[in-house]
Amino acid sequence: MNGTSTDKTTGSTSATVAIVGAGVVGLCTALEAQRKGYQVTLLDRDEPGMGASFGNAGYLATELIDPLSTGKTLRSALSMWLNPKGPLFLPLGYMHRILPWLARFIWAANPSDAAISRLALVQLNRAAVPAWKRCLEDIDASEQLVKSGYLLVWESADKLEDAKKHAAYMAQWGVKTELLQGKSLLEKEPELAENISHALFFPEACRMREPYLLSKLLLSAFLNRGGEFIQQGVNALHVEDGDLSIRTAAALFKFDHIIVCTGAWSKKLLKGVGLQVPLEAERGYHLTINAKHIQLNHPIGSAERRIVMSPLDSGLRVVGITELGGLKLQPFKRRFSSLHYHSRMLLSRLNNPALEVSEWMGHRPTLPDSLPVIDKHPTHPQLLFAFGNQHLGLTQAAISAELVVGLMTGTTPEINTEPFRVDRF
Ligand SMILES: Cc1cc2nc3c(=O)[nH]c(=O)nc-3n(C[C@H](O)[C@H](O)[C@H](O)COP(=O)(O)OP(=O)(O)OC[C@H]3O[C@@H](n4cnc5c(N)ncnc54)[C@H](O)[C@@H]3O)c2cc1C
Repeated sequence: MNGTSTDKTTGSTSATVAIVGAGVVGLCTALEAQRKGYQVTLLDRDEPGMGASFGNAGYLATELIDPLSTGKTLRSALSMWLNPKGPLFLPLGYMHRILPWLARFIWAANPSDAAISRLALVQLNRAAVPAWKRCLEDIDASEQLVKSGYLLVWESADKLEDAKKHAAYMAQWGVKTELLQGKSLLEKEPELAENISHALFFPEACRMREPYLLSKLLLSAFLNRGGEFIQQGVNALHVEDGDLSIRTAAALFKFDHIIVCTGAWSKKLLKGVGLQVPLEAERGYHLTINAKHIQLNHPIGSAERRIVMSPLDSGLRVVGITELGGLKLQPFKRRFSSLHYHSRMLLSRLNNPALEVSEWMGHRPTLPDSLPVIDKHPTHPQLLFAFGNQHLGLTQAAISAELVVGLMTGTTPEINTEPFRVDRF
């Protein structure tokens, strides 16, 4: 790139589309647009798959159908926040900036709005695994998706009723679970510490083998099919007389369509095209522990500690923490200590300071109603958006891609995309 204006439409036989953002959502979208016959260019300022998509737990959490903001979560928020080892943090330096978003988040817990979000999440999550299967089968990578099952565990025996209530709630939404205790729990997951009282097993649950490898496989299929990747940061999107262009530091690129998939960084690009979205970066932390001696059979979530431990090809990944700290702050070291502490309470064989551990922090893109944006620009329909999948971006990536590309091609979507409108706020 030499700073000259580049017209990507020149000489092309098919319509051109730029996908901005090469996280798992952008990668799935790029492939889906190719499948529909578009000539696709993918742009990212970084290497593909290095944003939030790099460090997730690889778990397809389709049972998470409640929005993040409900009366129940708000009631427990204060105690979570006051607990120094708890799962929720609001760094003081960011407090003044988060307040407007928090106000919207709290408002989103009202029963009618929460019910709308729940129904929309149910629709998306039910369609999520079938969409992943189609995507992976198409690129010959079906082995990446494993029907692993999932264990949600409790340590306190007096929370047995909570597990039973949760099982009944899940059944109401068609999600199968089995209550496990004692010997049956130990047989299912022999590594669990003895202090675990009971668990709900989700037999239908699936996971990916390795999130970063998944991004690499999606990228290589995209490139092999003639897709182009440009590693440049996008400074602005321009719409003039129906013409779309992308400005990077080095060039101006023109396209017939643009789909913005920039995760937690999407707000600024949308502002430039006249759209305000209350998007926040929910910072999450992970440890990847080289613990070959510990073989978990399933991803394991702790209902009380709010962490998930997932057996990936690269090691045992422990994820958790919601830190409303924006895009700029450095990770806080003590959050990693907190993940160490909790994981050792659940798997006693992790109590070994010699274990090799890597630490990482990433930004989940979260809107106050916990729903993504999957939509067209209200006045420039060639400009589209797919971002904001919060804790469920891996789960929902393939279906989000199908939906947004469906909006671009004008096909009737498999599910109602009205709740994901960009101008809903
Ligand atoms: C600790 C943790 C654990 C998680 N576990 C799970 C899980 O088990 N299951 C699940 O479903 N989800 C999980 N998630 C959530 C999931 O990882 C995210 O929702 C998902 O990765 C978001 O994908 P994305 O493609 O939208 O964003 P990202 O992966 O963040 O990609 C956005 C891309 O846009 C690029 N970009 C941004 N701005 C620009 C710009 N101006 N110009 C060019 N490029 C730009 C970035 O460089 C980045 O590559 C977890 C998240 C975290 C943090």
